[in-house]
Amino acid sequence: MEIIRSTVEMANWVDRLLVGGRTIGLVPTMGYFHAGHLSLMRLAAQEADQVVVSLFVNPIQFGPQEDLGRYPHDFERDARLAAEESVAVLFAPTVAEMYPAGFQSRLKIGALAEPLCGRQRPGHFEGVATVVAKLFNLVRPSVAVFGEKDFQQLAIIRQIVRDLNWRVRIVGHPIVREADGLAMSSRNVYLSPEERESALCLHEALELARKRVRDGCSAVRQLKDEIEQSIAGHGGVDVEYINFVDQYNLTDKSSVDRETVLAMAIRVGRTRLIDNGRLFEGA
Ligand code: AMP
Repeated sequence: MEIIRSTVEMANWVDRLLVGGRTIGLVPTMGYFHAGHLSLMRLAAQEADQVVVSLFVNPIQFGPQEDLGRYPHDFERDARLAAEESVAVLFAPTVAEMYPAGFQSRLKIGALAEPLCGRQRPGHFEGVATVVAKLFNLVRPSVAVFGEKDFQQLAIIRQIVRDLNWRVRIVGHPIVREADGLAMSSRNVYLSPEERESALCLHEALELARKRVRDGCSAVRQLKDEIEQSIAGHGGVDVEYINFVDQYNLTDKSSVDRETVLAMAIRVGRTRLIDNGRLFEGA
């Protein structure tokens, strides 16, 4: 596996590969790999000839009060894990490489960036979209793999690809969970044992909603009340949002159907966690 730190070297590597007629699968990440990241890498390897993983903690997607300065990192371990997944290139540019002095452009997103995390994190998705645009231009992947864990991000990227005619196929990967149901996240490392226990309320809420839907309840107001009560049973959890939304346009639903996704964000102590899922069996 090659480790590339400069944008010019990355672009040159891609030039050489594409001349040979081969395809690239890209997995954008912020590092501190867990089994979810590795699973995305494996999927990319099935979809393209060579896999490029980017590791870049993108400053322009963090708000001033967020965890940019303490985002977890362990480059040696990440490099070892990526190499074990037969990744061809780990692209880990510096901030100065990606945003040299004078950088000032942003991709502007429409309505999909407004609800859910967009409301809590102004500018976040424009920062994500901008770095993804740069990565796509540098790496020129035929396919890029993103996790459904960041469900709104995935919807926005799919929308941009359609809107701007980007020549890349976007593949979503299901959420990878710990044995007890907690969605894997690099940020889980922030959690104390008590907070880790409380964080299970997200998966429990999903399971509760699924059970109630199976039992025939589709009224969102009712389901939301029950979920709020269930989450209130866990200590130290602040709810940021609990929304039942259409999986494509992210607008709120009043009644659950096959397109409905339950999307949630909470704070446990200083840690912000998200989770989501469809509510119908096999949807
Ligand atoms: P991150 O490093 O957290 O920015 O995540 C990089 C990619 O991995 C994104 O596309 C995430 O949606 C995806 N990802 C993160 N956690 C998970 C998970 N538990 N299951 C599936 N995909 C994930």
